[in-house]
Amino acid sequence: MLANISSGKTRVLDLSYAINDKLVPWPGDKRVFEAQVNATVEKNGYFTRSFWMLEHYGTHLDAPIHFPPGKVTVDKIPTKQFFGPAVVVDVRAEAVKDADYLLSVARVEEWEKRHGSIPEGAIVLLRTGWAARWPDAQEYRNEDAQGRMHFPGFSVEAVKVLMERKISGIGCDTLSADYGASTDFAVHHLALGAGLYHLENLSDLSGVPEAGAFLIVAPIKLEGGSGGAVRVFALVGESEVKK
Ligand SMILES: [Zn+2]
Repeated sequence: MLANISSGKTRVLDLSYAINDKLVPWPGDKRVFEAQVNATVEKNGYFTRSFWMLEHYGTHLDAPIHFPPGKVTVDKIPTKQFFGPAVVVDVRAEAVKDADYLLSVARVEEWEKRHGSIPEGAIVLLRTGWAARWPDAQEYRNEDAQGRMHFPGFSVEAVKVLMERKISGIGCDTLSADYGASTDFAVHHLALGAGLYHLENLSDLSGVPEAGAFLIVAPIKLEGGSGGAVRVFALVGESEVKK
């Protein structure tokens, strides 16, 4: 797969959004991103900027330490966890009917019936279709009159099954791995507590097949960080593209 990247036989999909100040922040986050020009070609002969941003903004990674009992900071996540087969569970049909949909164990088992056991080291992505609402904050957060958000997520039960398969991380095309209406962030406590990471606000997953793609996850190496901006690449081989 890697050898075929330069010839184009293996396609590389970028599953991260470009960072600017117009992305959808978590409710309550006011200051999200600022960039300032430090040097210009006209004045200095070269161009540089400085920037400030939240750790959890745009396409980002939640490190285990983000929620207790997780301990590992973003710079200390074992590098082997950043490379793994992509398992895409497509729940768009369910999400259209129920914005509070939680990934069920049955759906995980259904994926395995069609593609085989979820391999050790896999990174499991929930495709809800919510990326189509990005970057419209109202549509994406889908808040009700009480300010409670409504978007799909992983269930604790499904994550427990995924953890039995020894996966490396989970990801979603929504604001959070827990569903929008969650108040206890049970998946965050469970998965991060077990040393997994979350990829949140992934971009459109339509180019990633349900099975057969390979993910490269490259978060910012921020010492002591609770998480941070992440570049996520999906390698899709020739045979998978045709499927
Ligand atoms: Zn999170």
